[in-house]
Amino acid sequence: MNPKTLLEEYDIVPRKSLGQNFLHDPNMLDKIVSIAELTPNDLVLEVGPGTGLLTERIANAAKQLISIEVDERLQPLLEEVVAQHPNLSIRYQDILTLDVNKLYENQPYVVVANLPYYITSAIIRYFLESNHRPTRLVLTMQMEVAERMIAKPDDMSILSVSVQFFGRPQIAARLKPSVFWPRPEVDSAVVRIDTYEQPIVDVPNNQIFFRMVRAGFGQKRKQLKNSIASGLGLNADQTAAVFDTSKIDSRRRAETLTLEEWAMLTRAYVALVV
Ligand code: SAM
Repeated sequence: MNPKTLLEEYDIVPRKSLGQNFLHDPNMLDKIVSIAELTPNDLVLEVGPGTGLLTERIANAAKQLISIEVDERLQPLLEEVVAQHPNLSIRYQDILTLDVNKLYENQPYVVVANLPYYITSAIIRYFLESNHRPTRLVLTMQMEVAERMIAKPDDMSILSVSVQFFGRPQIAARLKPSVFWPRPEVDSAVVRIDTYEQPIVDVPNNQIFFRMVRAGFGQKRKQLKNSIASGLGLNADQTAAVFDTSKIDSRRRAETLTLEEWAMLTRAYVALVV
């Protein structure tokens, strides 16, 4: 059954404020599961099962699935999916309130989600910055966010630096608005992120690395020496020393730096100032 018919049967009207655009194309639903390369040993977490069409496919492919849905109106409909899949359980809460460290008792797990677009970045940050990171994430999101995530030096942003610090993102499929009901206004993409066991660059402390990155991007189109001095509260001598030690031209702009260059700046800052 398609999502429109299912929701009408249960008298539920989709809520735009919850990012409720349901994917109804069976080929695309199958494709998302195949991109995730699930095996019967995999433990999976899904964000936002909605009408359960992706959920049932994940449950068929994986060992165990926990799905987190904030909208309790969907419970009667989703209970029917649970009844047919003993390896599926659904919790009705906001994903951002889930204690991911307790999930699956510290065993490896995979995240698959057709994300609610209003909190795409918050959800990605939530998983990547947690102490119990998934081994991979297969996420449907706005095309524009997907493209920002896979950007290369010259077009980097806080988002691309943060995602590429923890994992390798790739666009695995592109989706037109017509595969959803109701139709969103933008094109979408399925992004697969394979996470690293350790961040890709060597930094003494992740928090200080991100403080450096946020400072660097803090003042749009300014030279790094200005944005970093003001973002980190450094005087002129300290700023000059950080750039001399890391051998990075202080006139460059944040969007041009590689991850290794951000790491070099962080190491110099920690050695000289912190
Ligand atoms: N998985 C379904 C599909 O592929 O058609 C639904 C995807 S729809 C884009 C996003 C889903 O996330 C909706 O079911 C919505 O209710 C749910 N959702 C929205 N905000 C949420 C939150 N903070 N925590 C958990 N689920 C949320």
